Amino acid sequence: MHSYSLLASAKINLYLEILRSRPDGYHDLVMVLQSIDLADQIDLRPLGGDTISLHCNHAEVPQDESNLAYKAAALMAEKFPEPFAKYGVDITIQKRIPVGAGLAGGSTNAAAVLVGLNLMWNLKLSDRQLQYLGSLLGSDVPFCVVGGTMLATGRGEYLSSLPTLDDLYVVLGKYRSLSVSTAWAYQTFRHQYLNLSDAPTLKNHLQRVDSEKMVSAITSKDNSQIGQLLYNDLERVVLPAYPQVKRLKEEFQHTGCAAMMSGSGPTVLALTQSRTKAQQILDSIKIAIGDSDLELWISKFTRSSIQVASAVK
Ligand code: ATP
Repeated sequence: MHSYSLLASAKINLYLEILRSRPDGYHDLVMVLQSIDLADQIDLRPLGGDTISLHCNHAEVPQDESNLAYKAAALMAEKFPEPFAKYGVDITIQKRIPVGAGLAGGSTNAAAVLVGLNLMWNLKLSDRQLQYLGSLLGSDVPFCVVGGTMLATGRGEYLSSLPTLDDLYVVLGKYRSLSVSTAWAYQTFRHQYLNLSDAPTLKNHLQRVDSEKMVSAITSKDNSQIGQLLYNDLERVVLPAYPQVKRLKEEFQHTGCAAMMSGSGPTVLALTQSRTKAQQILDSIKIAIGDSDLELWISKFTRSSIQVASAVK
């Protein structure tokens, strides 16, 4: 029996369009999702009994049954009671992805546990089977099982791979003390834009967005067009409510790059084609904002989400 050390990548949105609310409380979405190499480390170790234990180095991350990585292990234990009874699992999470940042940190940790236990318990499940299990845990988990560049529809669980974009860099900015509730962002959007009796407003909304153009820019690997077509419906509710985030996006744009809020925020991202340029953007944002609460990272697009860093007997 091996212990596994996995890297679990963060996710950014290049495109997020909310089509409609659904009776189950979720929304039908069209998204383009991208894995980046900012990653948490997840170590999985057999315990030799039917127990799940979890440790994390980040104070804001729960270390109990409410942790998404724990929930993933509990789901695997329920579905595969024999290997669970024999081996159990000890999970250690080293957080590098900022928490509550709209970068799917919890979801990618859950995906790493699914992928890792599939190996550790020798279950031989396919990616598709792991993605199904992931869909029981959260909308972003199926994407995080495989990662790369994908078009996601439904509530995010219907995925099709797009040509991989691995030659782009992203600069991320997030105020340490600021987080945005994903549920609040979607609810507010629903109230403001989806309960429309006002047809012209709806038409105006629909005219502004076009996922097909983004997909064809990705297919033709037209990086500048990808930058032009970045789109996120949730900016329309989060930016007015969080002026700091709005200003951060504007400062990124002043550097001449394409910028957008990621997911439900409050992280803002900027795209560029070289690490040198990414560093220049980071330096100028640091000076322009001049706030020690602002954290900045440089990351690169990656082809996959979960990587096995090591397996030790
Ligand atoms: P999403 O965009 O998927 O809604 P997020 O990226 O904005 O999520 P996360 O970093 O996943 O945010 O954290 C959201 C909340 O989930 C945190 O406040 C934290 O308490 C809780 N949480 C549970 N498990 C984890 C985990 N393994 N890592 C991070 N947060 C977790």
